[in-house]
Amino acid sequence: MKGTPVALTGYVLTTDCKPVRQALVDFWHADDDGEYDNVGYKLRGHQFTDEHGRYRLETIVPGVYPGRTRHYHVRVQAPDQRVLTTQLYFPNEPGNARDGIFDPQLLMDVKDAGDAKEASFNFVLEIA
Ligand code: FE
Repeated sequence: MKGTPVALTGYVLTTDCKPVRQALVDFWHADDDGEYDNVGYKLRGHQFTDEHGRYRLETIVPGVYPGRTRHYHVRVQAPDQRVLTTQLYFPNEPGNARDGIFDPQLLMDVKDAGDAKEASFNFVLEIA
């Protein structure tokens, strides 16, 4: 697939910093041209965190589309808990400052790794 490869990793944690095992982490995002696959499942998929609360997604940097800065969509859900639906953003994107729903708390940590990128983000969930 066209685009810059990214390995996005992180943890799902509780507010007291305990790992959440078997949390659902469901991503979807635009392709390198800023297009979503609204017919099939390209660049859409879910996984469950491991016994340490970790997830790892290998994908590409999403393209931008009019009105939005660069972003991943994600839903995160601990077993039998409420669904958190949110977005993740890239640092140093000119579009961040122009996007009305951009939130700096949702910036990933992103590093260059040769021709690819390594990104990380930890989700913190309130468990009822
Ligand atoms: Fe979007």
